[in-house]
Formats: sequence, structure tokens, C-alpha cells
Amino acid sequence: MSKKKPGLNTICTHIGEVKDEQFKGAVSPMYLSSSYEFLDVDVKRYPRYFNTPNQEYLAKKIAALEHTEAALIFGSGMAAISTMFLAFLKQGDHIVVQNTLYGGTVNFIKEEFPKYGIEFTFTNGYNVDDFDIAIKPNTKLIHIETPSNPLMTVTDIKAIANLGKERGVLTSIDNTFASPVNQNPMDLGIDMVMHSATKYFGGHSDILAGAVASSNEHIERIWNVGKNLGGNLSDMTVWMLERSMKTLGLRVKAQTKNAMKLAKWLEKQPKVSRVYYPGLKSHPEHQLAKSQMRGFGAMLSFELTDDLEAQQFQKQLQLIKSSMSLAGVESTMLSPHLTSHALLTQEERDAVGISDQLIRFSVGIEDVKDLKHDISQAIAALD
Ligand SMILES: *Cc1c(COP(=O)(O)O)cnc(C)c1O
Repeated sequence: MSKKKPGLNTICTHIGEVKDEQFKGAVSPMYLSSSYEFLDVDVKRYPRYFNTPNQEYLAKKIAALEHTEAALIFGSGMAAISTMFLAFLKQGDHIVVQNTLYGGTVNFIKEEFPKYGIEFTFTNGYNVDDFDIAIKPNTKLIHIETPSNPLMTVTDIKAIANLGKERGVLTSIDNTFASPVNQNPMDLGIDMVMHSATKYFGGHSDILAGAVASSNEHIERIWNVGKNLGGNLSDMTVWMLERSMKTLGLRVKAQTKNAMKLAKWLEKQPKVSRVYYPGLKSHPEHQLAKSQMRGFGAMLSFELTDDLEAQQFQKQLQLIKSSMSLAGVESTMLSPHLTSHALLTQEERDAVGISDQLIRFSVGIEDVKDLKHDISQAIAALD
């Protein structure tokens, strides 16, 4: 490989390969050993230390994709986020978190932080001022998610990074929805980037995993807590994740292209009252999204008109699956009020704008004409 920085698809295919020195095979060998030599070695390897050959090398691919010095791979997105939070927050500390976050992250903060004596403030909005006023003398971390689940709100990454620097507070982002294909928060000054690798990194709805990417210094601190919490990924799944990530660039670019086409088309459908997608001119933060994203991602949401019942519509779909989770190569839809946000009260859902009519659409790699046809026939069946 030349000295020039490799492109996205080259990183996806080749960075972090474990070379098969013995048999010269084309792909990384899988090292399942949970026990390694301890005499005369540079590294004492053990799976829970995140340093088996497959874990160590795949982390290099993730770091390269997020333009960071280092990364760690976890057993789930929640293992990544909880370990990251607990590495930087202790009793008496305070965290400022965006009001619209992945439901599991909200639950973790609300259910676990009181037990540890960690204070938290959910912002009232997602403008930089909303974060600014929430900062207290004991604030140690600001955590954002953009585009956010499920309304695709866009937060100004650079402004948040600058706010953190001015106030001496670290910043972290959940970059799951955009993926490094569409957005690199580290280049805008964010300190730590986390992913649910269950989503686009895995991409085939068959892997549960997570990752954090950051500087060597921050990753070392997260590693110290991570080895105690024990949330590493099994090497079998690490190997599968490497296989999946080879096509990350290809998949996400195709999905992003499809999402743009479908968002524009949905906006024109008489039975669709609203479409939420950062790539649309009608999206309130379209200009901001344009300035910080290379593509607008493959997640969108829409609302059907009141005469069509959202669950009935999803039951009529023949190609698009109604299923939990997201980001697979297959298109899926779900109702946030019955799934990701079911634990919120009706009032809490109303406050963040999640109506019963809202449908979240994870756009896959199928041909757009077939996806349009499926949506049209489902609407026609109810109409
Ligand atoms: C799924 C998801 C998570 C949690 O990841 P798991 O792999 O399910 O633990 C966190 N953030 C976002 C945005 C997600 O979509």
C-alpha cells in the first residue's frame, strides 16, 4: 500500500487484517484461544483485556475509519457506552446529555446513575445554548447523538466540541446513525466517538457489538474500566464483524442514496403527512447537516395521515419487514412508541414529538422501485 492515506473502501477492506503468516491465506485467521503465553512476551493477551489478535487488529480498522488514534470493540453498543461513561464519571460528577437519545442510553442514565451518585441533566433542546446552560461546575462530559433517534434531529457537532473545550468538559457522540461513512466527529473536535456496531458496522442483522474510538489517552482510560466490567466481544463475532466491515462503505453509500430518493418520494405522497430526513430541504437543520455530513444517512422517519393506522400499514408491507433494530442490508420499519421509546410515558413522548403515527424507516440496499411499490401497495390496501 502507498504511503498516501488509503480511501474509505480500502480501509474497510484492508486495514486491521490479521496476516496469515503460516499458510498465507487471503483473510484473517480467527484466534479463539482464551489462554496465551505469559513468559517473554510483549503483551499479556486475554480476551477480557480486549487484546486477542482479532480484537486488537479490528480495532485498528475502526480507529482508521473514525480518524482516531485508537479504538476498543465491545460486546454491544450499550457495553461501549456504559464503559465510556463510567470511565469518565464518578460519584459527584455531572453529565449533560441531549434530550433526544437512543432509548437504551436514556434508560441506562436514569436507572443506573442514581445508584452511583452520578448527576445528569437532559437538555431542553439540541441547540448549543441548551447544552451551555446545563453545564455545572462538576460537569465532566457532554454527550450528543446526531442524527438522533427517531426524528433525525441534527446537533451542531463543532459547536458542541468548542463548547466543551471552552468550559473544560469532555465531549462524546453516538455516531451510530451516520456511521463513519457519512460523518467523522473527531475531525470536528469531539473527544470520543461511540457506535452500536450491531447496526451499520455489522450491517446484516446478525451481530451484537459496540465500539469506542478516541485518542490513545482516552482509550487507555476506557480500557482500564472495560477490563473490570468485562464487556468484550467474543473472537468468533469479532471475526464476523471484520468480514462485515469490508463492505461498510459500499453498503452505507448505497443505503444513503436509496434513503435520499425515498425521502423525496415520500414527501410527495398524499397519505404521508411528514417526512424527517436531514437531506431534505424541508428539514430544519438541512444546512447544518450539509456542513458536517458527507451523506445524510439511511435512516428516516415519516408520519402517515391520521386516517391510516400505522400498525395496520406495517402489517400490509410485503417486502419491508417491520422489525426492531436497524441498519441491515434489508429495509425495516418500526413504530418508536411501541419499541425504542415504549418505556417513556405518553407525556414524555409528546414532549419530544414522537407520535403514534410516526414510523421509523431503516433503508436497505434493495432497488428503490421495489421499496416504493411496497409502500404504495400497503397504503392502497388500507385506503
Ligand atoms: C442500537 C443502538 C444503541 C445500542 O446498541 P446495542 O448494540 O443494541 O447495545 C446505541 N445507540 C444507538 C443510536 C443505537 O441505534
